[in-house]
Amino acid sequence: MTLAFGYVRRSSYKQQENNSVEIQKAHILEYARRKGLSVPDEFIIIEDVTSAYNKRANQRKELMRLKEMMIETKIPTVIFYEESRMDRTAYTFVLDFYRPLKEVIPDILVYTTNSENPFNPDNEQNKIALLLYRQESEIKSSRAVGNLIAHLEAEEKTRPGSKVPFGYKQVNKTLIPNEDSEIVTFIYYLHSWGVSMGKIATILNDSEVPSPSGKAWRSSTIENILKNPVYTGTLIWDIQKSKTERKYEFQDFHEPLIDCLLKQISDINIQLQSNYGRLDTPFLFLNKLKCADCGDKLATQNGSTKRNGIAYQYQYYVCRTCNYKLAIDELHEKLLPQTFKHVQSSITAQTMKTTSEAYLTQFQQTIKKNIANLKNSIDKAHSKGCIAKEQGDKELEEAAAFLQLKYKTSIDNLVSYSKSVDELKGALDSDFFSHRFNQLLDASLAITEKRLIILYFVDEILISPEKPPKLIFCENFFEQLLPLDKLPKQRGLQMDKLPNHIQTTGIQNTDIS
Ligand SMILES: [Zn+2]
Repeated sequence: MTLAFGYVRRSSYKQQENNSVEIQKAHILEYARRKGLSVPDEFIIIEDVTSAYNKRANQRKELMRLKEMMIETKIPTVIFYEESRMDRTAYTFVLDFYRPLKEVIPDILVYTTNSENPFNPDNEQNKIALLLYRQESEIKSSRAVGNLIAHLEAEEKTRPGSKVPFGYKQVNKTLIPNEDSEIVTFIYYLHSWGVSMGKIATILNDSEVPSPSGKAWRSSTIENILKNPVYTGTLIWDIQKSKTERKYEFQDFHEPLIDCLLKQISDINIQLQSNYGRLDTPFLFLNKLKCADCGDKLATQNGSTKRNGIAYQYQYYVCRTCNYKLAIDELHEKLLPQTFKHVQSSITAQTMKTTSEAYLTQFQQTIKKNIANLKNSIDKAHSKGCIAKEQGDKELEEAAAFLQLKYKTSIDNLVSYSKSVDELKGALDSDFFSHRFNQLLDASLAITEKRLIILYFVDEILISPEKPPKLIFCENFFEQLLPLDKLPKQRGLQMDKLPNHIQTTGIQNTDIS
């Protein structure tokens, strides 16, 4: 008879009748019998749920011991009672257990008693099952899980099947780049250099490039493409459940059309424009000029007169408080050479790289601190939930589950943000930025490119009619590229409707300085 392992998890609560260790064992042995497998008693691994709850797979002692035993004995088969026994933190089971084992034992067979076929992490059904069980452990109410199943199924119909993103075709449920994929890449490229969405639409229409709808390109078409994370190879499921939103991200789900960095630069450009105003404006220093006398931000003024039938444009930066105006051409002639000279020398300077690196490190530390705080809060909410369950307080129990879910969503956001920061760090190490800007300064610059450089590198400029202008530059690449206010904020943590013996734990402010 072929030998196999079994894996059972012991709940810390009063055993629910279907989940007791004995019942799990019986199911496993019955399943083994049907498959012609033998599971000796000492081959049944029992993990205590208290220690395993919410932990990722590699922190579960018994699961890791099982992995070692399988490698040592070269027995490739293990039976779990059901998916929820395998993993309550979804994908870590695959990352920490299944994939490493598969490398050593290619013919690994992971069975669950509720399925005839061996577990396959690349199978769509298994992914959904793992997601559902993660949800189940988060919202310990069968009604909520029922809703989620309905949601996920509804989600399945629209994603990604019925609406295939522009630039891809769908073959066997997988997205594959098609002949339009180069257009997507081109759109991202143009946008990363500051070309506006409207301008990109015009360029494509002029070149008679067919649009997704077959009609003319519009800036909204471009915007939808620029905002879609699908192009970095990421599949996102948004699961909306009353006030709670869960976002599941599968990275490297299909072939990307653009690299993450290009996407990030494009996002940053959108952010910069919403902070400082548009890029294709003759007012290159828009929102970067401050009056040296009164400290007000300079406004802009467009004037025109007609003389002998010819229109003359006058454009000024003005201080409304001190009541003076500065002609833009004159001012730009003064400021632009200084600005570009500074950028030219600083992008290759070691100090710029060092301060940039330090900035990113500090950034990461703040993110980590916040994640640690949130984990702490999850533990607290969890233990309150356990007490509530023992006392049969349904309301408090659900409130605790709700809180945990909130905190988890915040952690997910921070983790994905942290990944972006890592990406930038990599770009810094590979001299991506200095190369990118060097390349730019060698060419003759379009208005939007000049404005982008100013937004990236100029912190502010103090100006007045009498004094010489004072230029203040950013100390590192990321001060503007990665402003602190981009750190995701805690959302919707007002818990005033919850029983007041549940406290939300304060989240550490994300300020660095
Ligand atoms: Zn003033």
